[in-house]
Amino acid sequence: MQIPLDTFGNGIVVNGGRPGGPDRPATPPCFRICAFMVNGANASISRFRRDLARARTIFGQAGVLVEEGQFREINDATLLDHPDWFCDEPGMPADTVRLFNMRGACRPIDLLAYYVRSIGGGFAGCGSPRLINGFPGFVVVDYASATTFSHEVGHAVAGLGHSTDTTNLMFTPTSGITANPPQLTDDQIRIINFSRLVRGCEPVLQGGLTFTSQLMEGPTAPAQLALPGALGQVRAALVASEESLDPVLRLGQGAIPALAMLLVSDQDPIIRTRAAAALGRLNGMTAIMALERAARQDASPIVRVTAVNALGRLGGPVAQTVLMGATQDPDIGVRITAMRSLARFPTPAANMTLAQAVRQGIR
Ligand SMILES: [Zn+2]
Repeated sequence: MQIPLDTFGNGIVVNGGRPGGPDRPATPPCFRICAFMVNGANASISRFRRDLARARTIFGQAGVLVEEGQFREINDATLLDHPDWFCDEPGMPADTVRLFNMRGACRPIDLLAYYVRSIGGGFAGCGSPRLINGFPGFVVVDYASATTFSHEVGHAVAGLGHSTDTTNLMFTPTSGITANPPQLTDDQIRIINFSRLVRGCEPVLQGGLTFTSQLMEGPTAPAQLALPGALGQVRAALVASEESLDPVLRLGQGAIPALAMLLVSDQDPIIRTRAAAALGRLNGMTAIMALERAARQDASPIVRVTAVNALGRLGGPVAQTVLMGATQDPDIGVRITAMRSLARFPTPAANMTLAQAVRQGIR
């Protein structure tokens, strides 16, 4: 899901030029992507280059080249997980704002790619031509598919909306895209070429860029579990919740028992993460035991981050006890999320645990 924008603006500013027209520089059309990686996320310069290679294959279909901009690591564990940010702009948490304000030496027209471990909802990514303060950018997380990066570029570079065509780059979830490489329509190609972010390539790069079809993943065929009735329906909604929890939230509170079961039993940590996030949003107090178990025992730190965050949203004495324990979790992101969540509990016990955790520092 992209951050909702005005109907037509979407960051597309026709800069007077037409592809190949007199106003367009003589160099080929290009846009550039800078990358910022929070240490602790599953990201590296080689992942960035792999994502760029795939973007070059896909956007090459629009006749546009993709330049590699600055790559920088961020050493700040408070920016690793953003469980309270659900790819929306109003009420963006302060740490998320702080992350997106990091621009390094990138130009105002560069796309900013932020690699973090997780965001709210167990989403795979989020992109917008105006991610923050009007700057174009996007986020990819550890759960991203090989196509998430390029899909978010589509949102961010030209404000492309979603497609219902399973062969299209803008289909969601990207794991359900059936064409390799994912396709662009003529309209999308036109919109990309008119993006204000598409300029003439830097001369130094001319001839240096090649379209590559290396490093493409094979056709994706996510394993479908044969699940009975409601459980299968709820799981399918979680799979579809790649950038928004709407598919699962639409099912309402009737989905809570199935979500609790998936949270404690599904093999896929993405499904468990989204189940935990959905329980936090559906006021799933009856699922508090499942969240407690996930917060204490799940093998994936991202599931624990999300369960701890959901418990903080739900509140109550059981949640408080679990959060107090989670301030001692072996994972730093879980500890930070527990501390943030405990701050919502105005009780002496929560305050004391929080004060103690603060004294111990972020370690
Ligand atoms: Zn999307």
